[in-house]
Amino acid sequence: MLNQIENRLLGGGDLTEEEALLLTRLKSMEILDLISVGNRVTRHFRGNRLEICSIINARSGNCSEDCVFCAQSSRHKTGARVYPMASPGDVLKQARAMERSGAKKFSLVASGRGISDRDLEKALLAFELIKRETGLELCASFGIIDENKAMLLKEAGVTMYHHNLETAPSHFSRICSTHTYQDRVNTIKAAQKAGLRVCSGGIIGLGETPAQRVELAFEIKRLGVDSVPINFLNPIGGTPLEGFAPPVPLESLQTLAIFRLIAPRSVIRLCGGRKEGLSGLQALAFMAGADGVMIGDYLTTRGEELNNDFKMFADLGLEIAT
Ligand code: SF4
Repeated sequence: MLNQIENRLLGGGDLTEEEALLLTRLKSMEILDLISVGNRVTRHFRGNRLEICSIINARSGNCSEDCVFCAQSSRHKTGARVYPMASPGDVLKQARAMERSGAKKFSLVASGRGISDRDLEKALLAFELIKRETGLELCASFGIIDENKAMLLKEAGVTMYHHNLETAPSHFSRICSTHTYQDRVNTIKAAQKAGLRVCSGGIIGLGETPAQRVELAFEIKRLGVDSVPINFLNPIGGTPLEGFAPPVPLESLQTLAIFRLIAPRSVIRLCGGRKEGLSGLQALAFMAGADGVMIGDYLTTRGEELNNDFKMFADLGLEIAT
């Protein structure tokens, strides 16, 4: 079955939903074969390049929404930092530092259901400054937005909007009750209408079934998303998912490979929770299907040491995309 799938994908064909479900049932050594297929499909469509991005949490905490995994919801007692939108000058300083660290893309993230006009104004100023002073490609992640706000971002130099679907439509009501899956889809469509590229993926390990991971991947493909961030649950104390176990590393790699085969031409971006989800097998993620990675710290948790990351990328012979 794996040979047939590989030949079809390399010839420009697609993986069917039925086949993807069968791939979720592979065990141990078979998963290693799946990773090899993921590697060849990645190299064929994406080459040997690795896209590197970074984020800063420009506004933290105090969010009205109740996403069960999130340290920044005001409904959970997590001790996460709470602060208002950072000033454009502070954001520029952090952007410069990330550029020096090797990041090529930089995203400003703000907690909350959406972004107020006042905070958007500050963010637009920050984007204009960064565009003028650095060579970074700009990305924004401000929750639910409409087409007007998306247009303003585009005019300020933003090229990509990040908004995760988080999980499969059939599982969404179990992870959030204050907004709907459709709200998220509407934001993706608004960003696309404004001419922004979209970065949208999810978190693996929210209590979804393997079949629901496949459902999420096909939704992402259906929406024509350009970049697919894959996060693994890092269970935060004080959230309803405290005590949840992240998926075991082999299952995380299996999931990455299946996402790659479903969306062979998209950037599959390894993001938050990679230490928790992959443990000592992180390097294999770049064989299973990842051709993008987030470096530095995440929103409320520490990331990997930059030196270790860049050594791993060099050891794997990956070329950093410019
Ligand atoms: S994921 Fe976003 S919308 Fe949900 S609680 Fe966290 S900051 Fe709020």
